[in-house]
Amino acid sequence: MNWQTISEQIELATGRAFNVLSAHPLAGGDINSAFLLQACDESYFVKLNRIDLLTMFEAEFAGLQELARTQAIRVPAPVVCGRTDGHSFLVLEYIEFCCSNKISERLLGQQLAQLHKRQQPYFGWHRDNTIGSILQLNSKSDNWLAFWREQRLGWQLQLAAKNGYGGRLQASGERLCNDMAALFDSYLPQPSLLHGDLWAGNATADKQGRPVIFDPACYYGDREADLAMTELFGGFGQEFYAAYQAVWPLDKGYAVRKTFYNLYHILNHLNLFGGGYLRQAESMMTLLLAEIN
Ligand code: ADP
Repeated sequence: MNWQTISEQIELATGRAFNVLSAHPLAGGDINSAFLLQACDESYFVKLNRIDLLTMFEAEFAGLQELARTQAIRVPAPVVCGRTDGHSFLVLEYIEFCCSNKISERLLGQQLAQLHKRQQPYFGWHRDNTIGSILQLNSKSDNWLAFWREQRLGWQLQLAAKNGYGGRLQASGERLCNDMAALFDSYLPQPSLLHGDLWAGNATADKQGRPVIFDPACYYGDREADLAMTELFGGFGQEFYAAYQAVWPLDKGYAVRKTFYNLYHILNHLNLFGGGYLRQAESMMTLLLAEIN
């Protein structure tokens, strides 16, 4: 890998000289390859992917800017993204991560509630982005149910059909799309700024114990969708939930709707990784349809 173009772009973006001394591959990413790029007294976190995937990095860059502007939770500052001869790249501030503890988890709960208080008069965002490596649609809408039906569930169901998952999954999915309003009874979702992909692998703490979130798939939507995802794969402690609820309590219907929101991510996993998630998606749909009828 020739780091010349990337170091020049860093220099242009920061206005400071940057002479690469070393580039260490980092483990952990699902989608991209990641590196710690070091000069004498500066370090950057760099993600690389295929040259045709620049829009994915541009959307992540814009998402980090949007989150950073709120000053609610620390995120890596985006520096620059672009293309070399062979790759697309995204350069971020390098943050030395530490393990979360009870104090940082509590702070994260409080700060996430503050982030969710940042709202817009529409659902969606000013641009599409990706969830994993799959396109996530964000056309603005003033109707949350229509947004979720068309741009979240409906979209993943369409992709699943293209990937060969027809039959029961599609039939139950269609019923759910038609009848989902029943899950929202007296609850009125508000368009909060969401991280959008908030599993434990995208949240940690810095060396000072401050929470850090990264790798977002931002849009404005029901805050329950972010909370639901924290529960999907686990890893967030009681301190986190108690602190969130102390700032902004959740509606009691969340207990059912979290399955509804997480269905989107399970369908996304089905489309990304295949068969193992089919059963899980189907049983989530069965549970939700039982709630509705
Ligand atoms: P991917 O988009 O491939 O999923 P991530 O953004 O999740 O990649 O990053 C991969 C790993 O790199 C993370 O799990 C985390 O440990 C580390 N990481 C991410 N961002 C930074 C950063 N700004 N500074 C230091 N390490 C980071």
